Amino acid sequence: MSVSPTVDNSYAALPAGFYTRQPARPVADPRLFQWNDALAVELGLPEDEDRAAIYGGNRTPDWADPLAQLYAGHQFGHFTPQLGDGRALLLGEVIDRHGNRRDIQLKGSGPTPYSRNGDGRAALGPVLREYLVSEAMHAMGIPTTRALAAVTTGEKVQRETALPGAVLTRVASSHLRVGTFQIFAARRDLDALQTLFDYARDRHHPDADGPLEFLNAVIAVQADLVARWMSVGFIHGVMNTDNCTISGETIDYGPCAFMDTYHPDTVYSSIDQFGRYAYSNQPHVIVWNMAQLATSLVPLMPDTDAAITAFTEAVHAMPARVEERRQHHFAAKIGFAKATPDTAALVDDLLARMAAQQADFTNTFRALGTDKAKDQFLDPTTYEDWEKRWRAASPDSELMARVNPAVIPRNHRVEEAIAAAYDGDRAPFDALHAALAHPFEDPADPAFTRPPQAHEVVRATFCG
Ligand code: AMP
Ligand code: MG
Ligand code: MG
Repeated sequence: MSVSPTVDNSYAALPAGFYTRQPARPVADPRLFQWNDALAVELGLPEDEDRAAIYGGNRTPDWADPLAQLYAGHQFGHFTPQLGDGRALLLGEVIDRHGNRRDIQLKGSGPTPYSRNGDGRAALGPVLREYLVSEAMHAMGIPTTRALAAVTTGEKVQRETALPGAVLTRVASSHLRVGTFQIFAARRDLDALQTLFDYARDRHHPDADGPLEFLNAVIAVQADLVARWMSVGFIHGVMNTDNCTISGETIDYGPCAFMDTYHPDTVYSSIDQFGRYAYSNQPHVIVWNMAQLATSLVPLMPDTDAAITAFTEAVHAMPARVEERRQHHFAAKIGFAKATPDTAALVDDLLARMAAQQADFTNTFRALGTDKAKDQFLDPTTYEDWEKRWRAASPDSELMARVNPAVIPRNHRVEEAIAAAYDGDRAPFDALHAALAHPFEDPADPAFTRPPQAHEVVRATFCG
């Protein structure tokens, strides 16, 4: 029996200046590489669709109303007044089985009016990286966009070399970003800004009475999100305001990475020359991003001076909120349901010792309290010293097992899966994908928990 999704394309009903309507550009030979059946069921998508054709961009299903969204953004601190979906198309919105509105978006679907110098396409490697890492984030319980499909196009895309092309289908609670507000604020288009505010408020933060409450609601979800990233050693890599959602979901997996050896200054992104988006800078950058949202909301307030005072206070209160969330998630990692000054001191001391001793971030937390923990440190006595004080506080090991992942998408495994896929061998992708689905279980194959050997270390990650 054919089911039809509950469709409600609300973004397409917004004023025409919010987007450009266009179909996807067909590709030579669309083939389904990966399909997320559980997610498709959750979304209520029909089983009898020609999925390769639809999610490769060769056919527009009757439920879709494809469009490229307009937005602006600060990229590495510099304002670009117009960005927009340069290689993506919002196909449409469905109401899922739980009653939640979800965007279904193609990424790599061809040029749009916002492509600038880009080709509108994506290579298979970055598509598979986003597929693996976003689904791993979801399995860890961290808010994120999801991956529904990866379709190979049968076409090459030119990067440093010619690479096989692919289209990713990504699912989000919406694609509204800080940059969506910035474009209308920068243009002083108050009608559009008000329309966007009403829409975003109703969609994500319906309890917010006005712009200040809305700002605080976004601050709350983003503070928790970034704290959760910190707690799993995730480095987003390109926290530009156009990659910062209103919903509080992680979006845009480009040069992102999970840390192996712990060091707070870690940067992987090849384009992040000055470490703006280094691991330990993320709590600062998210505050900076929220300051840009605050600035964009000021024109909606009748009294500009009062708005600036109130919004400034909200932004100034954010660092303490991020730190409170960070301490909460890290307290759980060392076995305490509630963060206190004592747990915070234990956490910060452990992290300092890990950094000095080149400990593997994931494996150290996973092993705390077992024989394996001290082996993570160059000098095991550094750990043993900490462990004595920690044990005296009676940590809960069951809590730790629930929050400290055993399996993360380590760079060298992701790169291995990508290289094999380029060679026509999908087995490493499948094995890694399967292991990542159960991050809190010790995997049957210990290779999925092993840090890279010297020759396997991936030092830089790239956009694509
Ligand atoms: P990102 O840094 O991935 O968030 O992308 C920043 C901007 O560049 C967005 O407007 C993207 O749509 C656009 N973009 C990235 N890659 C491409 C591409 N290959 N072709 C066209 N636009 C792109
Ligand atoms: Mg982006
Ligand atoms: Mg990107």
